[in-house]
Amino acid sequence: MTYDPGNIFARILRGELPCHKVYEDDATLAFMDIMPQADCHTLIIPKNAGTGIIDTSTDALQATIATTQKIAAAVKAATGAPGVMVIQLNGSEAGQTVFHLHFHVIPRWAGIDLKFHARGMEAPDVLKANAERVKAALAG
Ligand code: 5GP
Repeated sequence: MTYDPGNIFARILRGELPCHKVYEDDATLAFMDIMPQADCHTLIIPKNAGTGIIDTSTDALQATIATTQKIAAAVKAATGAPGVMVIQLNGSEAGQTVFHLHFHVIPRWAGIDLKFHARGMEAPDVLKANAERVKAALAG
């Protein structure tokens, strides 16, 4: 698949669209999923272009997984969740809907099902508050 620089996450990286940012470094960005499957569902993306795990450079992938590890710890601390799920999809057949590599970090509790994937927009004030919770956990 050819990388489309008009995809939503590329536009967020260029500052053309807003996001509720929780972390940024030279190589990666982490922000709230706008249609979260659980509270504090966070996305981590590389700044380098690539649609998925196969066509993203190894350097960019390494930076992204290192940030994903930080965010997983912060989301767990922020929510108090006993479990954290990390998901990464490649291709529409695998369920991918945005074609810029990203890892999902989703907190999990026993007996609480995930909300549907990429459905049901969260209120901006909730996303803002959850981003602050994750940022505070990163700082702590
Ligand atoms: P995928 O299906 O590609 O693995 O995941 C894409 C994710 O991006 C979905 O969980 C979806 O809710 C999220 N998403 C789609 N559009 C936007 C957007 O404009 N902003 C943010 N922050 N997340 C988005």
